[in-house]
Amino acid sequence: MERYFQKDIETMPVEKIKELQSEKLVKQVKHVYENVPYYRNLMDKKGVRPEDIHGIEDLHKLPFISKSDLRETYPYGMLAVPLSDCVRIQSTSGTTGKRVIAYYTQHDIELWEDCCARAIVAAGGTKEDVLQVAYGYGLFTGGAGLHGGSHKVGCLTLPMSSGNTERQIQFMLDLKSTILCCTPSYAAYIGETLKEQGYKPEDNSLKAGIFGAEPWTEEMRRDIEKALGIKAYDIYGLTETSGPGVAFECKEQKGMHINEDHFIAEIIDPDTGEVLPEGEKGELVFTSLDKEAFPLLRYRTRDICVLSREKCSCGRTFIRMAKPMGRSDDMLIIRGVNVFPSQIETVLLNEGYAPNYRIEVDRVNNTDTLDVFVELLPEQLSDTTEGIVKMEKALSAAITTMLGIRPAVHLVPPKTIVRSEGKAVRVIDKRKLHD
Ligand code: ADP
Ligand code: ZN
Repeated sequence: MERYFQKDIETMPVEKIKELQSEKLVKQVKHVYENVPYYRNLMDKKGVRPEDIHGIEDLHKLPFISKSDLRETYPYGMLAVPLSDCVRIQSTSGTTGKRVIAYYTQHDIELWEDCCARAIVAAGGTKEDVLQVAYGYGLFTGGAGLHGGSHKVGCLTLPMSSGNTERQIQFMLDLKSTILCCTPSYAAYIGETLKEQGYKPEDNSLKAGIFGAEPWTEEMRRDIEKALGIKAYDIYGLTETSGPGVAFECKEQKGMHINEDHFIAEIIDPDTGEVLPEGEKGELVFTSLDKEAFPLLRYRTRDICVLSREKCSCGRTFIRMAKPMGRSDDMLIIRGVNVFPSQIETVLLNEGYAPNYRIEVDRVNNTDTLDVFVELLPEQLSDTTEGIVKMEKALSAAITTMLGIRPAVHLVPPKTIVRSEGKAVRVIDKRKLHD
């Protein structure tokens, strides 16, 4: 039987969710208008007042907020309560530039941890579980979020943080961890290390993993599931909306349910800002309905994805978001063609390689170049040079079919590409250095 952390909320009829969102939105807009001069100014400029917002149908009237607004108002320009009411600071990973900080009241922490607890229960977590948190602890939200959620569910929580893989494995085996939480790239690395140490997937007690904080493909999911002998669940979030747990997967593994009692999701055309109908691909925008200290309205995530209201067999009624393909700023434009690193990952794994790769883009004589470095599997090492050249050609052809442009593929010896313990950095765009 399906279990939920907060059943009444998670299975609420869609009409009721919309009513609840409308009610909360009206209050939240007022709270922000009255307490955040920066956003009040944006609303005034757009000629919209809190009285104009009667419900979610008026959401489109509100101005957007983007990362540059947060950088401009750093550190406390978005604060909507007295700083003395805040109990915590977290910060983005700074993947795309200067870090952004977020602040939380105790209420904000509670709702964030509830969201993570929902994700853990959806992955089968109960108080009988031993949950190993191998996301980084500290300013990064991954560790703190899953840690708090794990306490709420009543799991025995192992606050490992990321890194120190030997110790990670020792505790996993000695303490019989049943749920592993970390980035998918780190999960793959842990799986690889276990294998090197001679363990089989059935030698660990893990049953599930909750992996997120970076884009990962379905192919990568299958690889990790096989390596660790688990079911791997996706979790999504960003510091600006509190952290992980904004959306989470259920056993269907067909997109992540967005915690709609706390967040309204919209998909917009990234170029025009126009709201797109359900089912169309675009940029994900979130409005947080309950956060007190850092309540962002219409925050543009730059994550590209699709929403679906299709009924889910798990009984949850929250809308689902597809796996984000990556951020609009992760998208590479190479010789005029749009390329997401995740497309290359899909091909590599389908062709039987491990997810250890690096993508380098450069510009030579005014033409973009694309080089993909992929590790050989240990058993391929003994192949002749001729054999390896053949494999490089075959892989290059497969990537060309996917992308429409031909990369130079370089097969490199095993273990020569750096492993990631947190968010993997797979792309080096050298063109930026010349600009
Ligand atoms: P930064 O923006 O510096 O990376 P965060 O640590 O807040 O800061 O990361 C949030 C971002 O991580 C999201 O906007 C998204 O791009 C990415 N992300 C988080 N979870 C997932 C996921 N499950 N799948 C794909 N991308 C994800
Ligand atoms: Zn579901």
